[in-house]
Amino acid sequence: MESAKLLSEYLKKSRRAVFFGGAGVSTESGIPDFRSTDGLYNMKYDYPPETILSHEFFFSETEEFYRFYRDKIYCPFAAPNGAHKALAALEADGKLSAVVTQNIDGLHQAAGSKTVYELHGSIKRNYCIRCGKFFDEEFVMKGDGIPRCECGGLVKPDVVLYGEGLDGATVEGAIEAIASADLLIVAGTSLTVYPAAGFLSYFRGESIVLINRDPTPFDSRADLVVRDPVGKVMSEALKIMNE
Ligand code: ZN
Repeated sequence: MESAKLLSEYLKKSRRAVFFGGAGVSTESGIPDFRSTDGLYNMKYDYPPETILSHEFFFSETEEFYRFYRDKIYCPFAAPNGAHKALAALEADGKLSAVVTQNIDGLHQAAGSKTVYELHGSIKRNYCIRCGKFFDEEFVMKGDGIPRCECGGLVKPDVVLYGEGLDGATVEGAIEAIASADLLIVAGTSLTVYPAAGFLSYFRGESIVLINRDPTPFDSRADLVVRDPVGKVMSEALKIMNE
């Protein structure tokens, strides 16, 4: 694969690469992108996903929120794909300094990545909104109705819902990593959704590689544009590097 060969050349030179990933990184693991037309849109709910997954809806229609959340967001069989695994290996080899992701599935950590900035939080973490007690994914996903803490408080996923702000420390960490990166790999995002494009403007390094099935407004700024599936091209590039 020509694109993998080219990507491997950029990675060989890099010491502080940062990977910025969107929903397209997880689709190869079988996790639907609810913004894509074949995603969660055409489905058996009275409201669009953006409404259900909003701050207001969570507190006003909590039971319906959790019905959708357990039905559509929970992917217990999803496993890391070639992109997740390659990124963990690149970090272990001292080539990659961080992953910044818009995904909430925890697959980067499952593959072994250590420095991961989850801009939209993670379904792996849940908190009681009254006492702050932590609950794992199983507690929320396998229960029925509204998950509650022993103290009576409502348990909320540590996921940034529509209408909520991003976590300040996570944003700061992501910006710092991007600002000190020598190579920026942007993958699986159309870069039209807030806040993706804003983050990329902090990059001051050498090269930008963009991996996305469809064209993005950022293509003209990239040194290399790849249309192949991100899992395939990343694992292939890693293989070439290790030859
Ligand atoms: Zn509690």
